[in-house]
Amino acid sequence: DHGLSEADPEVRAIINKEKERQFKSLELIASENFTSRAVMEAVGSCLTNKYSEGLPGKRYYGGNEYIDELEILCQKRALAAFHLDENKWGVNVQPLSGSPANFEVYTAILNPHDRIMGLDLPHGGHLSHGFMTPKRRVSGTSIYFESMPYRLDESTGLVDYDMLEKTATLFRPKLIICGASAYPRDFDYPRMRKIADAVGAFLMMDMAHISGLVAASVVADPFEYCDIVTTTTHKSLRGPRGGMIFFKKDPVLGVDLESAINNAVFPGLQGGPHNHTIGGLAVCLQHAQSPEFKAYQNQGIDGARVEKILDMASITLNKNSVPGDKSALVPGGIRIGSPAMTTRGFTEKEFTAIAEFIHEGVQITIEAKGLASGSKVQEFLKFVSSPDFPLTDKVSN
Ligand code: PLP
Repeated sequence: DHGLSEADPEVRAIINKEKERQFKSLELIASENFTSRAVMEAVGSCLTNKYSEGLPGKRYYGGNEYIDELEILCQKRALAAFHLDENKWGVNVQPLSGSPANFEVYTAILNPHDRIMGLDLPHGGHLSHGFMTPKRRVSGTSIYFESMPYRLDESTGLVDYDMLEKTATLFRPKLIICGASAYPRDFDYPRMRKIADAVGAFLMMDMAHISGLVAASVVADPFEYCDIVTTTTHKSLRGPRGGMIFFKKDPVLGVDLESAINNAVFPGLQGGPHNHTIGGLAVCLQHAQSPEFKAYQNQGIDGARVEKILDMASITLNKNSVPGDKSALVPGGIRIGSPAMTTRGFTEKEFTAIAEFIHEGVQITIEAKGLASGSKVQEFLKFVSSPDFPLTDKVSN
């Protein structure tokens, strides 16, 4: 038996090239991450050899005593990573990825052609929440179920909850889906719950993009309000490529979610679980409970500190609350306005320079360094206050 370099140098060479590409590029794809060596070791292990259809203790193949141990460990770690009570929540760690996990939920709780509502794809939703064009039902979700997307209020960029409520009242979906691929805000879970309750719908959250943030309690907790929570495992959670489905243990709308979801995963839509992925996921979920993971998810800067440091550089703006903030004194945002400096004759060119200074200020704040004296900001300020600065005579006070 040979290693990859000897057995297949052609594939080895391609992997090497991809490794170099990943290493040398600035990876800014929101759905990607770099998983750990430990996770990759588990994913590249003998676990890939084993068939284990079914659940721990109820397998359709022999020789699964260690696979059972692994899957139970993975389930326990998944519940612990998301701070869930084992008596109230269960989890299926077998979904092969995010889209299959979502379809497994639909298969579990819906009949063909039941109605669902998810965020529209062009407004940041995901294909697997249903997508169709006037000509074609693109997503399988829209082929097998009747999907009516909800959208954002284009003036605020936030989910248009009022419109969602009105549409849901008329459309009467059996399932409402929170979650998105491109939406930089928390969902208003209490509002979504109220809408779902009013029309008798299940409420599901697909937290694929933000599951790492949920585990580290950086964002609102969807488990407080939703009946079912799905996720991929390879985005902010930083695990192997896979999926998970969390479900309430108590029946919801008369449905035993635990057996419905477990049966939808297998035998409904999948065969043998990918045990190597479950091994990698167990490793990732252990790490997701560590202080380092919390620090990784919290890495960022608040509006209060940015306001203070920029003030020291004579750049005045104000800290500002954004949805999901826990404190108005230390909010997540800053507010920037252009009217005053435009009056003083600033154009795009000068505002570009200001953006660079703000960026520099944020960096300095993150690195907790003092402002360098004689920095570019000081030079710029000298220029602004010099008599040569164009249109300064327009300033009336
Ligand atoms: N759900 C959301 C919100 C996503 O953004 C994605 C992928 O980006 C998925 C599900 C699908 O995951 P997968 O590509 O693993 O099927």
